[in-house]
Amino acid sequence: MNADLHCHSSHSDGVLTPAALAERAAAHGVQLWALTDHDNLAGLAEARERASALGMNFIDGVEISVTWNDQTVHIVGLGIDPLDEVLVQGLARVRSGRDERALRMADALERLGVREAYANAMRHAGNPSLVGRAHFARVLVEQGYAGDLQEVFRSYLVQGRPGYIAHEWTTLAQAVAWIRGAGGIAVVAHPGRYRMSGAQIELLFHEFRAAGGEAIEVVSGSHGEAAVRNFARLARDFGFYASRASDFHAPGESPVDLGHSAALPDDVRPVWHAPALQVAHAD
Ligand code: AMP
Ligand code: MN
Ligand code: MN
Ligand code: MN
Repeated sequence: MNADLHCHSSHSDGVLTPAALAERAAAHGVQLWALTDHDNLAGLAEARERASALGMNFIDGVEISVTWNDQTVHIVGLGIDPLDEVLVQGLARVRSGRDERALRMADALERLGVREAYANAMRHAGNPSLVGRAHFARVLVEQGYAGDLQEVFRSYLVQGRPGYIAHEWTTLAQAVAWIRGAGGIAVVAHPGRYRMSGAQIELLFHEFRAAGGEAIEVVSGSHGEAAVRNFARLARDFGFYASRASDFHAPGESPVDLGHSAALPDDVRPVWHAPALQVAHAD
């Protein structure tokens, strides 16, 4: 099964429209696709409509920003009802601090010499209420501060670097509750990307499971082979379903394109077998 259950459109920090993403996913042989923009659901109707026209099974998704133990963690919701009022209102609250954060980020970057950081980031932000680090990162690449996005993040935009602005998102329990309340299944996104020890990751997984979380991304655009093996083992140990996802944002920028991820290992339970996702596809 070529499933790709995590990617971004221009409604958050991707660059393609939902319709263009659907076309690209179908062209790459994706059979089951989810759009999971950060903290908003605005692209889902267009994505579903184009997926359906292309004969591709579609799952409504979202990627919620969470603060857990002073670190940012992303929780993907799959199979959510985009009209669920509690989820819709909750996401509006999660988004509400982004603009002020962006102004502070722009100040910090301008002190380093970046020109018109806020206006330039907004030029990249297809959805002004979703302005974020990836939009600033594209500006820094344009102005020659680094060769690519990964390098910009490493040098400027992660905790401990000069363009990083700490921000309080929602809680882990709240994000999982919104997803479950909207009929979805909660998935820890790219667990291999967090700067956490093995013990911290296990603590995160314990708390996530206690809150009602049921899956983790085993195959992710930010996981190498060793991470895939490690998170497959942890998925089995914790009884989690396993997800497969590119986390695609933009052609030429993201390390893995839509539908081009490695296969899930044989000894995990694919998340598309979860009862909450059965309506989305035939097999
Ligand atoms: P924000 O929600 O504004 O904190 O931005 C988070 C986004 O920044 C992620 O969803 C990615 O798109 C991007 N990002 C974070 N870390 C990296 C990285 N190391 N390399 C490339 N993109 C990254
Ligand atoms: Mn992103
Ligand atoms: Mn993420
Ligand atoms: Mn993502």
